[in-house]
Amino acid sequence: MNRIRMYIDGEWLESESGRTTDIINPANGRKAAEMTRGTADDVAGAVAAAKGAFEPGSPWRSLSADERAELMVKAAELIEKRAEELAVAETNSMGRVYRETRYDDVYAASGAFRYYAGLIHELQGAASVENGDMMTVTVREPLGVCAVLAPWNYSMGTMAAGMAPALAAGNTVVIKPSSLSPVATAMMVEAMAKAGFPAGSVNMVLGSGSEVGTALSESVDVAKITFTGGTATGRDIIARSATSVKRYAMELGGKSPFIIFDDADLDVAVDRLMFGIFLSQGQVCIAGSRLLVQDTAYERVTAMLKERIPKIRIGMPLDENTEFGPMVSKRHMERVLDYIRIGREEGAKVLVGGRRITEGAFGDGYFVEPTVLVDCDEHMRVVNEEIFGPVLTVQTFTDEQEAIRLANSTGYGLAGGVFTRDMGRALRVCSAVDTGIMWANTYMEETPGMPVSPHRQSGTTVDGGLDGLKEYTVLKQINLAMTPTKSDWFTGMVSEGKDNR
Ligand code: NAD
Repeated sequence: MNRIRMYIDGEWLESESGRTTDIINPANGRKAAEMTRGTADDVAGAVAAAKGAFEPGSPWRSLSADERAELMVKAAELIEKRAEELAVAETNSMGRVYRETRYDDVYAASGAFRYYAGLIHELQGAASVENGDMMTVTVREPLGVCAVLAPWNYSMGTMAAGMAPALAAGNTVVIKPSSLSPVATAMMVEAMAKAGFPAGSVNMVLGSGSEVGTALSESVDVAKITFTGGTATGRDIIARSATSVKRYAMELGGKSPFIIFDDADLDVAVDRLMFGIFLSQGQVCIAGSRLLVQDTAYERVTAMLKERIPKIRIGMPLDENTEFGPMVSKRHMERVLDYIRIGREEGAKVLVGGRRITEGAFGDGYFVEPTVLVDCDEHMRVVNEEIFGPVLTVQTFTDEQEAIRLANSTGYGLAGGVFTRDMGRALRVCSAVDTGIMWANTYMEETPGMPVSPHRQSGTTVDGGLDGLKEYTVLKQINLAMTPTKSDWFTGMVSEGKDNR
């Protein structure tokens, strides 16, 4: 798929704007594909299609829950059938290495469809007969048109994590992928169309955040906006959504603390630390980007980092042996290099890495070395701001209280990890650190189906599990009188001995 079009009301369309955006392969700076660039008018068309498909009696609304689940499982199968193509497309547009896109991203996407298809019958309400002659029931109804906006990193998984529960609950969707990585998402939509999702139930618009994204935030016909991306963008979307009082789910940025005490198994801790910060070149929302290490373990931990980091296999992302590839774009590479410069100016020292890789073929792409900055403190920008790259900052602490205070010293609350052999201390730290996910003696391992909620400026939603599915429904209360009786309120006939006030 070299030219990506929009998918609206069951048709693959070019935007009337006639404009296109190039998708650049960050491993070599060459054009990998191009996409039509939509406008606010295209958004209006897609939202109208989704609204029409949500009307009672439409082909989509006429499907039973089992039929919806069947479509979702079929889509999952078709996604997996094209796993190789999807992985290559994603690697070529955003640089995430093939071993991650092929064996993680594709199955995260298909898995979300399978998982929510399996939960489809769990959306039950409640019933009460406590007032004797009246039964009150609550039912969970779909919201209507749900917009799903995804970032460029982990784009297939993120998009599916928004679309799958929305569709399982009976909503229709308008999705917008990032202009940096729309190719694999378009292939997912192809799979959904082939699976038989009725026209209008799934729509995809393409274009910039400032034009297409804002139009979705402001649309009065969008009932809910699910956004995964940066905190600043999230603030803008929340403000624009207010005019139509729409619901929103925000999965935003992070600056996650990775705490190592001196009694930890340092071999395991440093292995997990490297996974936590250098996976996908640090372009992961839950990256453990702030190392807080007990002063008594500082020398040992930094020596291990110095010894192990140069052994990371940096290479072309399509090579199955490559462990570490390029940054997503030239602009993002420059931003990451800027932060390394800012860190130095603030007084940090580069322990490992710190520069762009320009030798040989790397010079055509956007590669930055895995980098460790030591001598950092809580007032530095590099410690407080999300760099979203392969840059680990290192701070020391002396005791548990100080570790907790430093862990909570940024505005983010996405994730964190603690390594210690003292399980009492692990539990205390997990409970005191104000984040949505904590790991003790591991990092980035999750149990599928367990819900998660970002804290503080990292977001406002519940993602995953039955709790996550319920977020795509609204409760309705229905009261049923078993024996119809008059209220006797405005009859003017006050019954004897009864005060009608
Ligand atoms: P971004 O905020 O720049 O863009 C995300 C999406 O929003 C894109 O599709 C973009 O086109 C669109 N957009 C941009 N401006 C918009 C606006 N004003 N209105 C509406 N839409 C707009 O983020 P990014 O650079 O694509 O992704 C990186 C960020 O995503 C990081 O901050 C990372 O932490 C975050 N992220 C969070 C999670 C999570 O689960 N919490 C997961 C992945 C990524």
